[in-house]
Amino acid sequence: VIDAGQPGHSVVTTCAYCGVGCSFKAEMKGGQLVRMVPYKGGEANHGHSCVKGRFAFGYATHKDRIREPMIRDSINDPWQVVSWGDAIGFAAKKLKATQARYGRESIGGITSSRCTNEETYLVQKLVRAAFGNNNTDTCARVCHSPTGFGLKTTMGESAGTQTFDSVMKADTIVVIGANPTDAHPVFASQMRRRLRQGAKLIVIDPRRIDLLKTPHGSTGIHLPLRPGTNVAMVNALAHVIVTEGLENTAFIESRCEPKQYHDWREFIAEERHSPEAVEAVTGVPAERVRQAARAYGEAGNSAIYYGLGVTEHSQGSTMVMGIANLAMATGNIGREGVGVNPLRGQNNVQGSCDMGSFPHELPGYQHVGDPAVRARFQEVWGVAIDDEPGLRIPNMFDAAIAGSFKALYVQGEDIAQSDPNTQHVEAALSALDCLIVQDIFLNETAKHAHVLLPGATFLEKNGTFTNAERRINRVRKVMAPVAGMEDWEVTMALSNALGYPMDYKHPSEIMDEIARLTPTFAGVSYDKLEKLGSIQWPCDEEHPEGTPTMHTLDFPIGKGRFAVTEYVASEEKSNRKFPLLLTTGRILSQYNVGAQTRRTANSQWHDEDVLEIHPSDAELRGIREGDWLGISSRVGQTVLRARISDRMLPGVVWTTFHHPGSGANVITTDSSDWATNCPEYKVTAVQVEKVSQP
Ligand code: SF4
Repeated sequence: VIDAGQPGHSVVTTCAYCGVGCSFKAEMKGGQLVRMVPYKGGEANHGHSCVKGRFAFGYATHKDRIREPMIRDSINDPWQVVSWGDAIGFAAKKLKATQARYGRESIGGITSSRCTNEETYLVQKLVRAAFGNNNTDTCARVCHSPTGFGLKTTMGESAGTQTFDSVMKADTIVVIGANPTDAHPVFASQMRRRLRQGAKLIVIDPRRIDLLKTPHGSTGIHLPLRPGTNVAMVNALAHVIVTEGLENTAFIESRCEPKQYHDWREFIAEERHSPEAVEAVTGVPAERVRQAARAYGEAGNSAIYYGLGVTEHSQGSTMVMGIANLAMATGNIGREGVGVNPLRGQNNVQGSCDMGSFPHELPGYQHVGDPAVRARFQEVWGVAIDDEPGLRIPNMFDAAIAGSFKALYVQGEDIAQSDPNTQHVEAALSALDCLIVQDIFLNETAKHAHVLLPGATFLEKNGTFTNAERRINRVRKVMAPVAGMEDWEVTMALSNALGYPMDYKHPSEIMDEIARLTPTFAGVSYDKLEKLGSIQWPCDEEHPEGTPTMHTLDFPIGKGRFAVTEYVASEEKSNRKFPLLLTTGRILSQYNVGAQTRRTANSQWHDEDVLEIHPSDAELRGIREGDWLGISSRVGQTVLRARISDRMLPGVVWTTFHHPGSGANVITTDSSDWATNCPEYKVTAVQVEKVSQP
């Protein structure tokens, strides 16, 4: 690794797209980044890459980059280009004035899973120490917050249990609500290798995903359930495990709390959870569910991988606990080839959660209500920390509309495009007295902003990302930030202008502070990362080089806790007015709201979102391939072109959310997970009709 600034240098850094966290050598020539070469030493990717990480980096030098700070008094005024000092001063003055007028709780900050651990840590510190409240949240709210809740409740840690390499020892691979070939391509290749070696595959998903095309063991099973019925399905699988004698009693007796196990077992053994009893709910033939349960329960090693098709439901947290129940009941925890593994969508979802971006938790998932925890942070930060949890993102929107929440700092997140029920989000943003947006492009959220602070891409900063297997990877600066400042420096300047001093010279100093305050990061430092290449947390005195497999001997909470997982039907149901159920997903060449990939050559492969509709539903409506369709839900309507496909079940339609304007979030509702408020993106009742070209 050679420092940035030297001609012809190359720098090892980490992909800023998905949660696989591939390592790349960024090769420079004459001050220009010419190639991203997959790095063989990368422990998450072993020299492999996908079309996003390898080719879609041109957005960093795109003409649309915001290169100068801008301010305006009202969103009807034109932007005024100002110096960094003036922009930060303007923002600080507005925040102070808002708090003076409306109170300490009237402002907050949102950070992003795209930013580094160090940047995310600083945003929550800014909110807690300089704003003086806990109104901090992260975009993980809208994706994997149920993972945090569900895994912490049952197994004591808000993270996946395995390394990616562990899949090579799995005999049965279960994929639930995830499409790894499009969303986590490098890990999907590893899964495919294992399937070609004969591992069995079970896919629980309303859509027939590409992984099912891979040659695999004799018990490849697709359970195409109706959207919103995950919990009924996981309960049916567990019912078969319990009633057909497939439990691992030795594991349960030695590793799990007997009272919770007893309660759960009584509940799950009830006939109403049998595959036959829930067939009418899930739509999946009972015998196929029994086959799948046997393939999972009888295998030597069974591993579960899941995605947003699990979490983005009104029962997202319940489903995560149901998955943990299955793994504990069969003893598929604590060794290679097994486990419960959330496939994180964004590069640093794991990290942004680890870094205390939630309104109720300080870094390391330490609750703000715990006086001993607060005392430790107060000693290092030199300021009192509020003991009341703050507002989650949806609560911030509601409070803004109600008039009690008046200013928001958003770092690296396009909430206007990515959060559900766009009209509601826009109403909330329009109601703010001050919106400060720090981003690399003028995104949809920035249209409502009063202060625009240029962000830096991953190529322009130092820091770390934590991938889906808890692996902390270094992000190294390849080129200078286009606007002169890295994101952590901007947050630091804002804090100083607000009167709470921050003085870090390098992100390594921020990591040192994180290690001092976060038990699972206690042994992490930049020096050690240089030496080891990467570290999987927990990294502490007991595990000085990190922890590839979690829960080998016990759980952080001692014994595992089974949870009773009652199925509750989604509020979104198909009816006469909205007879189809819409669910959403991603495609390989684009990434999330497309802000980066749409500004690269990847757009040639997917230049619009389309609606996949089953041939029978299309025929009923006289729809042909490529027709324009009006799609309406109880909250809004949009127009997309038709793609006729039998990958979906009849009665279910599917789309992506990579393009602004036409995207799904205009019609998704604000129904959300009961425990975490994660939106129910995956179930929206809609009507679809042919329309003339918009
Ligand atoms: Fe980047 Fe994910 Fe592709 Fe790896 S698999 S190159 S991390 S987008």
